[in-house]
Amino acid sequence: MGRMSQQQFENFTASSLYCEKCKTAMPVRERLLLILPDKEIYDYLCTGCASSVGQREVTAGEKLMTQRTAARRPRRRAPARRIQL
Ligand SMILES: [Zn+2]
Repeated sequence: MGRMSQQQFENFTASSLYCEKCKTAMPVRERLLLILPDKEIYDYLCTGCASSVGQREVTAGEKLMTQRTAARRPRRRAPARRIQL
């Protein structure tokens, strides 16, 4: 039903996501949907019915934010949770 002709995608992923149409976890293929100056949006398509089962945004700033937050947290928590060896 509505099966698209097989296309060659640049990226294949081994991961699987739950598909509401197939009512089970299906292997998905990753497709680069959008490229923006500061981020990329990936679309995940069910290999069974070719419907979109999810999207993922990857931003350049996200990585920096995560690193900064991770660097700050230990400093704040350290005094309260000092471990004496
Ligand atoms: Zn499906």
